[in-house]
Amino acid sequence: MKLSDLEGEAGEILERYEHPKAGMLPLLWLVQENRGYVSQEAEAWVGRILGVARSQVREAVSFYNMFHTRPVGRRELRLCTSLPCMLRGAGKVLERIEERLKIRPGETTPGQEVTLTEVECLCACEMSPMAQLDQRFIGPLEGGPLEGGPLEGGPLEGGTLEGGTLDAVILDALTEPGSPESAPEPEPYISTDGPVLSRRFRDPDGTWMDGYLADDGYVAAKQALTSMTPEQVIDEVLSANLRGLGGAGFPTGRKWAFVPKETSKPKYLVVNADEGEPGTFKDRYIMERDPHALLEGMIIAAYAIGSHKAYVYIRGEYFRSAQRLQRAIDEAQAQGWLGKNIQGTGFDLDVVIHRGAGAYICGEETALLTSLEGGKGFPRLKPPFPAISGLFGCPTIVNNVETLACVPFILNQGAERFAELGTESQGGTRLFCVCGHVVRPGVYEASVGVTLRELIEGAGGIRDGNELKAVIPGGISAKILTAGEIDVAMDFDSLTAAGSMAGSGGVIVMDETTCMVEALESAARFFADESCGQCSPCREGTGWVHRIVRRIIDGRGRLQDLDDLLAIAGDMEGNTICVFADAAAWPVQSYITKFRHEFEEYIRSGRSGKKKGAVACQT
Ligand code: SF4
Repeated sequence: MKLSDLEGEAGEILERYEHPKAGMLPLLWLVQENRGYVSQEAEAWVGRILGVARSQVREAVSFYNMFHTRPVGRRELRLCTSLPCMLRGAGKVLERIEERLKIRPGETTPGQEVTLTEVECLCACEMSPMAQLDQRFIGPLEGGPLEGGPLEGGPLEGGTLEGGTLDAVILDALTEPGSPESAPEPEPYISTDGPVLSRRFRDPDGTWMDGYLADDGYVAAKQALTSMTPEQVIDEVLSANLRGLGGAGFPTGRKWAFVPKETSKPKYLVVNADEGEPGTFKDRYIMERDPHALLEGMIIAAYAIGSHKAYVYIRGEYFRSAQRLQRAIDEAQAQGWLGKNIQGTGFDLDVVIHRGAGAYICGEETALLTSLEGGKGFPRLKPPFPAISGLFGCPTIVNNVETLACVPFILNQGAERFAELGTESQGGTRLFCVCGHVVRPGVYEASVGVTLRELIEGAGGIRDGNELKAVIPGGISAKILTAGEIDVAMDFDSLTAAGSMAGSGGVIVMDETTCMVEALESAARFFADESCGQCSPCREGTGWVHRIVRRIIDGRGRLQDLDDLLAIAGDMEGNTICVFADAAAWPVQSYITKFRHEFEEYIRSGRSGKKKGAVACQT
């Protein structure tokens, strides 16, 4: 397709934004989805439409890992080798795929059929080991043809892949290309007895507008718009003790109250749906299975802060979530729950989905805003905080998906009811993502006062009758806990007191077969890959940490390396623009401190000392 054929769609994209440059990522997606990659000619075309130099477009293209700058295969297989997938055998899966396709990550099969890409966490850890074929998530990639050894006499033997034969070669699960919407839904374990967030997850009729309305949907929004002042809404959310469930745990009502009332500037609500913390996959379930709960929470939040424009920043890999949320937005608009004069109340709210393009750091709220404005996803120094100067320099509230999905319950059932579901300092339930070495990886809704032990037992306990060794309780950034430290409540304050953090609610469980050196290597590689590079302690520190841990894995470690790693981690902490560097330091500190004997043994012997193997070589 010629670039000039895309001009009409490009014009429609720009109409969604107050500032043309904010159309950067959507335009780059438009180009890539129609032409396969972003050529230099396309960069110049995007620059001309946005009114910026081609170098600025180039900057964006090179920052986001989902954009291709040269032709790739007609299909792309993106295999996750982040820690949760490695714990369940992703290393072996990668070997098998390389064996079958006869290519390595970054390469394309002869005939330009398939490009193989190794990626960091796709946030579908309940399916691990997993991959993304074009737009679809597939997993777990165990059993089936991958276990069957090399194909004999298959089409790959001749060195070419013909269209239509690929499916038989890689996996039965890769059968049909197609939209993520048409893909079968994954069916991991989902608790559905949670009172707040998950009760419609298994009810296909409850997903869309009619079912949602029949289940008291939009009653809370109507109540807020017709019989409450914005201040009353904020007070109710404050009383509920709702805290930000994206990871920071800041009281939501207090955040909303920071937005200045008297200002001539527009105010924005931005939903952080850039779920990227390894071990976390809860927001995807809300957007795909209960999208109207999120939209209703957004209406209430926007009313409370006086915003009439909201953006939902969804991570680029979540094609299906974006499609399903867009369908819900279309339904809400058609039935007067979004747009001008919502249900005759005089309140307007316009909602736009904005897709990211593969950069973990954009989950940090200021990086997300920079990305939404069309730049590289660079975090900004705070203050000023976004509530004062955020998107386009205007007051902005950034809230996580799950946080907003709690809000309708609070207005429907009352702040007291929500608060009493949790602990003294944090109200409600949350969606815990339990993955790794448990019997039933999945999404579990429970009171924030549930203990880590109860969560692991609820997920069926440790697989194969093995012993628990360690748990990361709040996504890969959280400090690791040993098997003796799991009688701790999962609310923000209890986990902080226990020396870790509740973070994003991603619980990564490791049994006795796990090699902690290899687990740290996986975490260190992630942080080295994802640092935005603005700050020296982070850019250099994450790189050095990964190189040193890699050297230990390669059998060339020295005992002094352990103290060097701790010293580097110490220098990273508290010395940078955003907390990414701290988050990168915490695994180093906690793994080495709590499992030092294992690191020393690895260095002395040049290999893992674990009796049953290691994360990178699961059988
Ligand atoms: Fe970027 Fe790291 Fe600095 Fe954060 S700490 S701004 S991720 S370099």
